[in-house]
Amino acid sequence: MLQQTRVAAVVPYYERWMARFPTVRALGAAREDEVLGAWEGLGYYARARNLHRAARAVVDRFGGSIPDHFEELRELPGIGPYTAAAVCSIAFGRDFAVVDGNVRRVLARLTALASDPRRSPQAGALEALAHALLPPGTASLHNQAMMELGADLCTPRAPCCAACAFQAVCRAAASRRPEAYPVRASRKALPHYDVALGVVFDEGRVLIDRRPYNGLLGGLWEFPGGKVEAGETPEEALHRELREELGLRVEPFGTLPPVRHAYSHFRVTLHPYLCRFLSMEPRACSGQAREWRWTEVGGLDEYPMPRANRKVLEMIAVGGALGEGL
Ligand code: SF4
Repeated sequence: MLQQTRVAAVVPYYERWMARFPTVRALGAAREDEVLGAWEGLGYYARARNLHRAARAVVDRFGGSIPDHFEELRELPGIGPYTAAAVCSIAFGRDFAVVDGNVRRVLARLTALASDPRRSPQAGALEALAHALLPPGTASLHNQAMMELGADLCTPRAPCCAACAFQAVCRAAASRRPEAYPVRASRKALPHYDVALGVVFDEGRVLIDRRPYNGLLGGLWEFPGGKVEAGETPEEALHRELREELGLRVEPFGTLPPVRHAYSHFRVTLHPYLCRFLSMEPRACSGQAREWRWTEVGGLDEYPMPRANRKVLEMIAVGGALGEGL
């Protein structure tokens, strides 16, 4: 949960998660909708799906006990070298160095690394340095100390060198501009998409469909719609997307203000249309069939949804738009 997410944001999620899924077996036995629902709002939903699949694999292949070997941990869904090293060292006391973003910053500053530490071959060199610095037999304590040093003292913008045990040997501190490290390669701007979506009402219910499992935000439920293509108006895109995905015909009777949201890899502006249902022929849709459902508006809390769609739902509830056109 802490990957790319602040501790303060994670704590309530963690507590609710552990109350709902107190054991690996409980998590493995849960339905995916329950798991995604408990994760909703944390983002990076692949983490939730992988945790769920990993729990099932631990039950099926290891009798419900988390394996304590690096290679066995690496076989579990979603567990890469960083997580395997963290579990091996912190949970089982094995001699593996952990290099997260905080540790990478500390090491880049200790060595005054002149290039981006996330790129190869520098990333590999810092991994090797982290292993070389590891005092045998103390990996749990050492790794946590290095991570805390990065989080509390060697912070990105204002490192507190006067209080740091490394000050005498740290090259970035000697440069008197420690905050200039780590060096960052320039970032590409995030892509932006305009998306038209339909909040389609029929007899007091609203239509939602499920995103394909193998894409971004996979497995989450949303109001149907899709990207506005070049040369299209959002309303034209709405009719085209609904027809292509669900064989759906609707009559728009209103709009909601655009919703802007930034995900980790892209930004979207949603253009929501309030629509009356006319007809649907799901078999007319091309490619992979979409899973869809009519549901009471009050029941939408049960479905895990992308954050931007949840904002649309909040507007509908606040604006009382539900009474119209039904
Ligand atoms: Fe970071 Fe300063 Fe410590 Fe160097 S001396 S590791 S820059 S806090």
